[in-house]
Amino acid sequence: MTSIPTPRSQVAEQECPGCGETFSDAGLHLTTCPTYIEPQNYDFGFWGTWQAWEQTIGISTEEAWMAAVQAHMGWSNASPERARDQLDSKLGRHYADLVIDRLMAGQSLADALAGRRQ
Ligand SMILES: [Zn+2]
Repeated sequence: MTSIPTPRSQVAEQECPGCGETFSDAGLHLTTCPTYIEPQNYDFGFWGTWQAWEQTIGISTEEAWMAAVQAHMGWSNASPERARDQLDSKLGRHYADLVIDRLMAGQSLADALAGRRQ
């Protein structure tokens, strides 16, 4: 896969996908953010699937991950840990594929995550 330079590295300040606050080094902040839930499976669940498509889609894996965790908690009243475990599983991988297909079809991230029809 050809790697395209990401404009994110040129951005001085980034919004944390967990708490929504802005940090000059959001990556470092994520390790201590009280709201952000880290995946435990970076390879084969939602995270790894998304990462492979990140540059094509233009939505960072961190942002998509956190939005997916929150969407999942919203439907199922799952705890953050349970939402993370499901997204880390094979189901999370299929879910990422589905959401990416919907984004490619022109849906917004929120609609794609919620499975809304256009
Ligand atoms: Zn944060």
